[in-house]
Amino acid sequence: MSRQAEKERAERAETGSHERVSPYVVMASCGISPKKALGQNFLSDLTVVKKIVSAAGVEKSDIVLEIGPGLGIMTGILADRAGYVAAVEIDRDLAPALDSVMSGRDNIEIIYGDIMKVNVGELTERLRREHPGLTRVKVVANLPYYITSPIIMMLLEQYSETFSSLTFMVQKEVAERLVSRPGEPEYGAITLAVAYRADAEICFTVPSSCFVPRPKVDSAVVNLNIYKIRPVEPSDPAHMFRLIRASFAQRRKMLVNALSNAAYLSVGKSEVAGALESIGLNPAARGEELSVAQFAALSGILNKQPPGN
Ligand code: SAM
Repeated sequence: MSRQAEKERAERAETGSHERVSPYVVMASCGISPKKALGQNFLSDLTVVKKIVSAAGVEKSDIVLEIGPGLGIMTGILADRAGYVAAVEIDRDLAPALDSVMSGRDNIEIIYGDIMKVNVGELTERLRREHPGLTRVKVVANLPYYITSPIIMMLLEQYSETFSSLTFMVQKEVAERLVSRPGEPEYGAITLAVAYRADAEICFTVPSSCFVPRPKVDSAVVNLNIYKIRPVEPSDPAHMFRLIRASFAQRRKMLVNALSNAAYLSVGKSEVAGALESIGLNPAARGEELSVAQFAALSGILNKQPPGN
């Protein structure tokens, strides 16, 4: 057995799966080929798809927003388990494949457009209105890698109260960044954006052999369960996130320097040092050491503006 075949066999054993579909057969029958620029790495392992849908805890009382349905392999399984599925796909060339997934099902709609331009608020409001019996709205997506962070930030910053959970397949290193802890090398502004709003966990990793075409890196499924009541509530979240932005813009710098260098914060070094000490932190601390609760406390002391300004 070749080394590559052996590796693929080991990877399949890792996912416990041999239930495969062939995206190339579907693409050939629709006369299409994958577009690298749109991050089109299609899942070819049905067991992994089912595991993602299970990790998202999708039930008949749920509306699911899927981002990037691709050839529809996950869309069909989502529709089998959810009450209703709305999927936003940028590539109209995939319509023949998606039409065939929709045929015989009455609980899928495809919206052709760029998720960064779709009005997600209006869309979810309409879905709730049209399906009053369905109680929760969840996001489930195998995200296109070229735009992963912007999509996650947009959903968190603008719509976290709209969704009960967000379940994403992302590159493994991105998943690690989303769930990391203060002091870990992957810890950053996006980690804090997640930690403020959601309980995040990596559910499982997925080897690159489960995709067609095969990407260069492995992936992981991450679940963000949105808090109904946030454990940390700063008096002015916008100010806290300005502090976080300044802290990670110069992440190797001590906070006294990183924050006093950010003109928009209007704070001096000694003020920052005093604030850090007053919450029990070393005045030489760096932003990457602080939890969301500590950023909230620091913001409470350093904020000179009324909330929201
Ligand atoms: N869900 C499918 C699967 O798991 O096989 C496809 C996932 S593939 C990684 C990402 C999908 O997102 C592709 O179908 C791609 O065309 C679509 N996509 C890329 N950019 C997008 C955007 N800005 N808005 C909506 N869909 C996008």
